[in-house]
Amino acid sequence: MADIPLIGKKEENSNNTLNIVQCPKCQYKYFETLHLIQIISELMSKSGKKEMIMVPVFRCGKCGFILNETKE
Ligand SMILES: [Zn+2]
Repeated sequence: MADIPLIGKKEENSNNTLNIVQCPKCQYKYFETLHLIQIISELMSKSGKKEMIMVPVFRCGKCGFILNETKE
C-alpha cells in the first residue's frame, strides 16, 4: 500500500463513525473502482503456479486522481 495521506471528514449530523474519504487534490468524494492486476510468478506463489491477483484501486470521479496507486 502506498502512503497517501487521506483526508477524512466526519459526518457531524449522524451517529455513524464512518469517515468520508475525499480526493486529496480536489476534495471530491465519489470514486470509481478500477482493478490493478498483479501476476505472481511460479517462484513466489504458494501453489507453485503463476497467479493473477486483482487489487482494487480507487479513482476520483472528478479529476481522475488514483487514490491508492502503487509506486511500482
Ligand atoms: Zn479529485
